[in-house]
Amino acid sequence: MSEPLIRLEKIRREFQSGDTIFAALKDIDLTIEAGEMVAIIGASGSGKSTLMHILGCLDRATSGSYRISGTEIESVSGDELAELRREHFGFIFQRYHLLSELSALGNVEIPAVYAGSGATQRGVRAAAILDRLGIADRADHRPSQLSGGQQQRVSIARALMNDAEVILADEPTGALDKHSGEEVLRILKQLNSEGRTVIIVTHDPAIASLAERIIEISDGVIISDKRSSDPERTRAAKPNNTADLAPKQSATSLLGPLMEAFGMALVSMWAHKLRAFLTMLGIIIGIASVVSVVALGQGSQQQVLENISSLGTNSLEIFAGKTFGDVRSGRITTLVVDDATQLAKQPYAQAVTPTVSTSSTIRFGSTEANAQVNGVGAQYFAAKGLTLSKGQLFNSDSVHDYSQEVVIDENTKKSLFADKAISPIGQTVFVGKIPLRVIGLVSAEQGGFGSSQNLSLYLPYTTVQARFLGDSTLRSITIRVKDDFDMDYVQEAVTSFLTQRHGTKDFYILNTDDIRETITSTTQTMTILIGSIAVISLIVGGIGVMNIMLVSVSERISEIGVRMAVGARQSDILRQFLIEAVLVCFVGGFAGIGLALAFGAVFSLFSLSFSLVYSTTSIVAAVLCSSLIGIAFGYLPARNASRLDPVEALSGD
Ligand code: ADP
Ligand code: MG
Repeated sequence: MSEPLIRLEKIRREFQSGDTIFAALKDIDLTIEAGEMVAIIGASGSGKSTLMHILGCLDRATSGSYRISGTEIESVSGDELAELRREHFGFIFQRYHLLSELSALGNVEIPAVYAGSGATQRGVRAAAILDRLGIADRADHRPSQLSGGQQQRVSIARALMNDAEVILADEPTGALDKHSGEEVLRILKQLNSEGRTVIIVTHDPAIASLAERIIEISDGVIISDKRSSDPERTRAAKPNNTADLAPKQSATSLLGPLMEAFGMALVSMWAHKLRAFLTMLGIIIGIASVVSVVALGQGSQQQVLENISSLGTNSLEIFAGKTFGDVRSGRITTLVVDDATQLAKQPYAQAVTPTVSTSSTIRFGSTEANAQVNGVGAQYFAAKGLTLSKGQLFNSDSVHDYSQEVVIDENTKKSLFADKAISPIGQTVFVGKIPLRVIGLVSAEQGGFGSSQNLSLYLPYTTVQARFLGDSTLRSITIRVKDDFDMDYVQEAVTSFLTQRHGTKDFYILNTDDIRETITSTTQTMTILIGSIAVISLIVGGIGVMNIMLVSVSERISEIGVRMAVGARQSDILRQFLIEAVLVCFVGGFAGIGLALAFGAVFSLFSLSFSLVYSTTSIVAAVLCSSLIGIAFGYLPARNASRLDPVEALSGD
C-alpha cells in the first residue's frame, strides 16, 4: 500500500491571545488520497480555514505530523515549502486575492514567474487557461474591472498555472451570486474529474453534497467523515498523473529572476506613482542640495583663489608695527628706505620695493575722483605681478629723480577717461594740486575678496614722500622671493635680518601663501559645514524613504501573502522590495542631480560674480549615496515583509 497523498496525525494548532491559549484544531487525524474531491464543512469558527492553511503549507501546526506523499512537512525548509505551494498546491480564496496592479493575465502568470519559466511560454499558457475558463476576452482587464465570478475564475486559472495536483478552495463561492457560484463549482468538479485532488471548505451543505466525501468539523474536531459513493470506484476512474499537461520549467538563468523582479518593481512603482514620487522627494531634495552646496562652495573657493593668485606669488610684505592692525603702526618710523636697499642685496630677493601710500583727489579736465596714491619702487610691478597693458612703467631713474610720472590702473582709467576717444597715456592729471604725466596703464590690483573697486595710482615713492607726505618713513616693503627659496625660510631670514638692524622686532610680515592658505581653509571649512547640513538633509530624506517603505509594506501585506501563497520564496519578496527601494532612490538621485544642474543654470543667470563648479566626485558620491540609502533603508522593511507568514499576511487585510 503506497503512502496517501495527505496524512495528518494528531495535528494541533493553537493560537495565543493574551494569556490564554486557544486550540483551533484539536489533534486532527485525516487521510486524503490523490484524486479525491473532499468537502470540509462546519460552522463559522469551527477551524476549517485553519485546517486548510495547514494542508496548503501556508501555516504550520503547533504539534502533530503532516506528511505529503510520505514526506514529513515539519522537517522541510521555508524555500521547500514555497516550492510545494508553487508546484503542488493551487489556492482559491473566498475573496479572490488578486493583485490589483496586474491584469488578469498578469495575475495568472505570477506562479510561473516564481517557478522561473520564460515570459513568452508562460504568457501563452496563461492565455490558454483563461480561454479554457471562458474569460479570454478579459485577459487585459484589471481585477477592479471584473465581476466577482470573473475574478474567481482568474484565481482558479492562477491555481492551475503551475499545474497544481491539489486545489484548495476556501469558501470559493462565498462572495458570489448563485449563478457564478454554480459555474465555479462546475469548474472545480471538472478539475477533479481530470484527476486533481480538490478540497473545498464551505459552510453550505448544498455545496458540500457535490463532493463524494464530506468531512464535518466542529470546534476543531472532526465529528464525521462520510463518503457518498464507493471510494475505490471514484478513485479508479481517475488518471493519477497530470504531468503531461505542462512540463515544469526551471529557471533559465541567474539574470532571469533579477529581470523579473526589476519588471515587477517598475509595474508596482507605476501603479503607485504618487507614493513612489513622495518617496523620491526626500532623495531628490537631499541629493540636489548636496550637489549644489558642494558646487557653490567650490565655485566661491575657486573665485577667491583666482583673486588671491593676482596678489602675486612668492611675495612677502613687511609692515611697520607689532601685528596686523597695530594702531601705533602709523607712528612707528623705523621702517626706512635703507631697509629695502639692504634687503634687495639678500640672495633670496628677486625684487624689493618700498611702498608708501596716501589718498587724494585726482582730476582730469573737469572729472574728479578719489584715489589711493601708492608710492612704490620700480620693482613694485614685478613683485606684485601687475601687468602693463599700455605705455610704460617708471624705472629706478624716475625714483631717483623724484619724477612726476604716474602709472594708473584700469579703474582709474574708467572713471577719469570715460571718453574712450582719449588715450590716457601722455595726459596730465592733477593729484591734489600736483600735475603728473600718465605714462602707463596696469591691470587693477586685486584685494583678497572680490575685485577691488578702488582707483589706484602708482608714483615713485620718492615723489610721494616729498610731495605728499613730507617724511621718509615707509608703509611697507614688498619682497618677491626667488622661486627656488622656501618661503618659511625666507620669512625667518628677513625677520632676523630686520630685527638685527632695528634692535627690536617692530614690524610684522604678511605672506601671500599664508593668506591663501587661510582663505582656502576657511572656504573649505564653510564647504564642510554647509556640506554636512546637506548630508543631514540627505539622511532625513533616507529616513523618509524608509518610513514610506515601512508604510508601504504594511499597506501591501496581503499582496505579500498572495505572492507567498502562490509560491514566492522569502528571497523573492526580499529582492522585490529591495529592488523597488533601490530603483526609487536611483531615479530620485538622478532627478536630484538634474535639479542641481538646473539650479546652477538659473544661478548663473542672476549672479555675475561667480558660477557653480560641479565636481564629478560629488555627483558620483551622490548617486552612490542614493543607492546606498535605497539598500540601507529599504532593507529593513523588505526583510520584515519577507519574514511574514503567508497566512498572517493573508489575514492582515
Ligand atoms: P472557520 O471555520 O470559520 O474558517 P477558522 O479556522 O478561521 O474558522 O478559525 C477557527 C478558530 O481559530 C476561530 O475561533 C478563530 O477565532 C481562531 N483563529 C483563527 N486564526 C487565528 C489567529 N491568527 N489568531 C487567533 N485566533 C485565530
Ligand atoms: Mg474560514
